[in-house]
Amino acid sequence: MSIEISENYSLRPYNTFGIDVQARFFTRAYSHSDLNEAIALAKSKNLEILVLGGGSNVLFTQDQNKVVVLNRLMGKQVEQEDENNYFVGVGAGENWHEFVQTAIHNNWAGIENLSLIPGCVGAGPMQNIGAYGVELSDVLHSVEALNIHTNENHVFSLNECELGYRESIFKRKEKGNWIITKVNFELLKRPRFKVEYGAIQNELEKMKVDILSIEAVSQAVCQIRSSKLPDPKVLGNAGSFFKNPTITIAQYDQLKQIDEHVPFYPVSDLEVKVPAGYLIEKCGWKGKQIGSCGVHHLQALVLVNHGNAKGMELKNLSEEIIQSVHEKYTIKLEREVNLY
Ligand code: FAD
Ligand code: NAP
Repeated sequence: MSIEISENYSLRPYNTFGIDVQARFFTRAYSHSDLNEAIALAKSKNLEILVLGGGSNVLFTQDQNKVVVLNRLMGKQVEQEDENNYFVGVGAGENWHEFVQTAIHNNWAGIENLSLIPGCVGAGPMQNIGAYGVELSDVLHSVEALNIHTNENHVFSLNECELGYRESIFKRKEKGNWIITKVNFELLKRPRFKVEYGAIQNELEKMKVDILSIEAVSQAVCQIRSSKLPDPKVLGNAGSFFKNPTITIAQYDQLKQIDEHVPFYPVSDLEVKVPAGYLIEKCGWKGKQIGSCGVHHLQALVLVNHGNAKGMELKNLSEEIIQSVHEKYTIKLEREVNLY
C-alpha cells in the first residue's frame, strides 16, 4: 500500500509549541516500507527528510521545505528475559508515557522516574531523555535505525549511541542520517528505586507511601510534573529550552564570586551542574512576556507560546536570554530544543 502524501501541510498540530509553519510534503509512516517510500519521495524531489514523533522538542523557525514524516511504527513486547531483566522491544512511534504505564502495569522497572515525558519512544535516544536522576542510558539496550541515504538497517549498541547529558550520536555526528525505528530496553525484574531528588521524597511523604513501588514513584513524578510544568495542550512549549550547564569546579568558584547562592549538583570530582532555570530567573526573565512569547512563571527554563508566537520570535527571545545570562554570570547557555 502506498503512503498518503499531503502538500503544503500545516505542522501546527504536530509541534507542542503550536508554531504554524507548513511542510512542503507531509506523510505518516506505519511500517518500514512506508519509511522507504518516504525516503524515495524525498530523493525524487531532492528534499531532506525530517522525522517527527510528538514534536515536543522542536522549534520551527520557518516553513519546512522537506518531506516531514510522522513516525508511527508501533508495537511493544518482551522479546527475551533472564534472571534479572526483561528485554522489551518498542516501536519508535509508540507514545512514551503510554509505554511507561505499560511497564508499570507489568512490573518492568527502571523507567518510572521518566513518567509523563511527552513525545514518542523513537525520540528518546536522540537526547537521552532524562528526569529525576534517571536517563534513558540507564535502561537502553540498543537502537534499531534505517539510514536515510543508503536504506541500510543498523542496530546501534548502547555504546555506539554515544549517549551523554541530553546528547547522542543521532543529535551530533549522525544528525539527519538515521530514522530510529525501534528501541530495545533492558528493564529490571527487581526495582532499584532512585528517589534522591528532594521533590520526589516530599511527594512520597505527602502521599503517605510506606512501601515503595514503581507505581508510587511514577505517581509522585506525575504529581510534581503536573503541578510545575505547563501542559502543551493549554500553553505551547517544548519543556526545557536550555540545557543545565556543566562547569568545572574552578568555574563554579568564580561563579560564587558573582552570586554566592548559585545552586550546584556534583557531576564528577571535577565538574558540577548548575540549574539554568536559576540563572535565567536571577536575570529577571521568569514570568516575562514579550508579545506572544514568554518565560514560564513557575519554571524559567521553559519558554512558552501565549498564542500566535512565531518560531523566530521565540528564537530571538532565547538569544536575549543567552546574552543576559552570559553578561551577568559569564556562562553561555546552550539550547536543548532542536531548531528547524
Ligand atoms: P520530536 O520533537 O518529534 O523530535 C525531536 C528530535 O528528534 C527532532 O530532531 C526529530 O527529528 C528527532 N526524531 C524524532 N523521532 C525520531 C526518529 N524516530 N528517528 C530519528 N529522529 C527522530 N525531555 C527530557 O529529556 N526530559 C524531560 O523530563 C522532558 N520533559 C518535557 C516536558 C514538557 C512539558 C515538554 C513539552 C517536553 C519535555 N521534554 C523532556 C522534551 C521532549 O518531550 C523529549 O525530548 C521527547 O523525547 C521528544 O519526543 P518527540 O517524539 O516529541 O520528539
Ligand atoms: P528541579 O527539580 O526544579 O531542579 C532544577 C534542576 O536542578 C534540574 O534541572 C536538575 O537537573 C537539577 N537537580 C535538582 N535536584 C537534583 C539532584 N538531587 N541531583 C542532581 N540534579 C538535581 O527541576 P524541574 O524543572 O522541576 O525538572 C525536574 C526533572 O524533570 C529534571 O530532571 C529535569 O531535567 C526534568 N525535566 C526535563 C525537561 C526537558 O525538557 N528536558 C522538562 C521538564 C522537566 P537535571 O535536569 O539534570 O535533572
